[in-house]
Amino acid sequence: ARSRGEDRIGFFRKNFETKATKLIKLKAELESALHNNEFKPYYQPCVDRNGLIMGAEALIRWIKNDKIIPPSEFISQLEQSELIIKVEDKFIESVVSFISQTKKEGIPPYPIAINLSIKSLNSKDLFERVILKIKQNKIDTRYLKFEIVERAFLEKFEHLNKLILRFREKGISFSVDDFGTGYSSLSYLAKLPVDFLKIDMSFIRALSDEKTRNIVRSIIFLAKELNIQTIAEGVETKEQFDILKEMGCSCFQGYLFYRPMPESDFKSLLMERKNG
Ligand code: C2E
Ligand code: CA
Ligand code: CA
Ligand code: CA
Repeated sequence: ARSRGEDRIGFFRKNFETKATKLIKLKAELESALHNNEFKPYYQPCVDRNGLIMGAEALIRWIKNDKIIPPSEFISQLEQSELIIKVEDKFIESVVSFISQTKKEGIPPYPIAINLSIKSLNSKDLFERVILKIKQNKIDTRYLKFEIVERAFLEKFEHLNKLILRFREKGISFSVDDFGTGYSSLSYLAKLPVDFLKIDMSFIRALSDEKTRNIVRSIIFLAKELNIQTIAEGVETKEQFDILKEMGCSCFQGYLFYRPMPESDFKSLLMERKNG
């Protein structure tokens, strides 16, 4: 019995070690990925009620030996470390430089939204760093937007409130991401200094349910009263699109329209639109 007990302890220790070692290994890989420029933006357009492109969201991908690794496999590890700040700083740089490049090539620019982690929002000189990149690349501030999760407001509301107001003064707008999944109530919405609200995909999935439909209708109604535009994310079917349009939602994002695509494809899409 004794030796079996030891085996068991040995088993747990081994498992624990492999998990810990894996994390350490991943962290080292992420550092080198940053230095080798392996994080790239993919772009997913969002459309208006007529299906016309209004803008896009930049979503991070890790291109590792020609394999495309989705954020679900590394973003939470990054977000647990200060590394996310450097990764997002470089990511903002890539997007800003893409916007400037399209402008130089005469392609009509669209506002691009970038996801910001809580660590970046609380990082030193975020405002100054962003404004500097915009100036260096000579782009118009209204082509840059940020998305932040509802949870960020719970942690440092006052700090965030001030930061957003500074950005908004410069013409950069903000969206609350994954709205409805956090802990906030609808009345909280009035306090958020944001221009857009993204209705989380889980609500869109459940639109066939009457209660969910009523919640979504209320969100859209209240947002309108507060002068906040609503974006539905994860729209996959024509039925969902129709229901949301009927409810007064103004922007739509999802596989029904476009999947996230590499920069070159996004550029071709914008050029097609310019010429056609
Ligand atoms: P998110 O910000 O909520 O982004 C929406 C996610 O839904 C994206 O997943 C997008 O590809 C996916 N999506 C869009 N339309 C559909 C659809 O019709 N059906 C389905 N099933 N999915 C759809 P993705 O690109 O894998 O990103 C996942 C999450 O990773 C993002 O969720 C965001 O939280 C995070 N993320 C991505 N880029 C960054 C970044 O630069 N910084 C930070 N902090 N987080 C990021
Ligand atoms: Ca987002
Ligand atoms: Ca979202
Ligand atoms: Ca999400």
